[in-house]
Formats: sequence, C-alpha cells, structure tokens
Amino acid sequence: MADKLFELEIVRPDKVFFRDQVTMVEYNTTEGETGVYAGHIPMTQIIAPGELVITTPEGDRRAALHEGFVEILPEKVMILAQAVEWPEDIDVKRAEEARIRAQRRLAEEGGPGDVLRAEMALKRALLRLGVAGGK
Ligand code: ATP
Repeated sequence: MADKLFELEIVRPDKVFFRDQVTMVEYNTTEGETGVYAGHIPMTQIIAPGELVITTPEGDRRAALHEGFVEILPEKVMILAQAVEWPEDIDVKRAEEARIRAQRRLAEEGGPGDVLRAEMALKRALLRLGVAGGK
C-alpha cells in the first residue's frame, strides 16, 4: 500500500537531520534513482548526488543529498549522509562561488584527479543551486 508508514532516519556527521514516519523516500544511488515504500526488501545502497524527496501524509520535503549510504531494514530506512541540506539552509552565494571555482578549474589544464575533483565539486554546487532554487 502506497500510504503505509515507515520510519526514516537521516543522520549526518554533526546531527540527526530527519527522523519521522514517512510514506516514501526518493534519492539517487550509484545504481540509479530509487523510491522506497514500506515493505521494501532489505538492502544497502550507495548514494549518488541528487535531490532527496521525503513524502509524508502532510506533504513533500526536499533536500540536497550529496554522499553516503542507505540501509533499508524491514521496519526502518537509515540514511547515513556525508552532506545533506534543506533548501533554506543552503548558502546560495557560497554554492555560486563553488560553481565558478569548479568551472574555472575545469577550464584550466590539470591532471585526471584534478578534473574529477572539479567535476564532483561542480555537481555539488549545481545540486545546491537547483534545490535552493526550488527546481
Ligand atoms: P565549498 O567549496 O563551498 O566548501 P563543498 O562542495 O566543497 O563546498 P562539502 O565538502 O560538500 O562542500 O561540504 C562541507 C560542509 O559544508 C557540509 O556540511 C555541507 O553541508 C556544507 N556546505 C557546503 N556548501 C554549502 C552551501 N552552499 N550551503 C550550505 N552548506 C554548505
């Protein structure tokens, strides 16, 4: 049943980010986009950067989810996030500066490691700007 509730707990290094009963949670993984309802088979997943959407009977909440693991247990879903931010907590100016820095580094000569780091930084910045901007 789509409206059956389950517990979702999201922790990041400094605090519990979210803990409540929800009907669905959606996020990106290294295997693609995932939507989890109550009763999902237990598994562990690796997060890929993307928008997190939490659906509760009161409505949806969105966040920027950058990196971490998901553990789907029979009665609970745990997200261990290296970085996760609500739209209202995103510093748009900082993300814009990070975007410009990363794009400048990509335009310069650099080794493959530099390119990968700059691409990842650009992805984080664009995700923050997208989530903070509401789309
Ligand atoms: P920057 O270069 O601006 O530090 P970054 O992508 O390297 O950005 P991260 O390493 O992903 O930053 O994150 C470090 C910490 O800072 C995390 O706790 C993350 O949530 C927070 N953070 C990074 N950028 C922002 C932002 N624009 N608004 C709010 N929090 C941010």
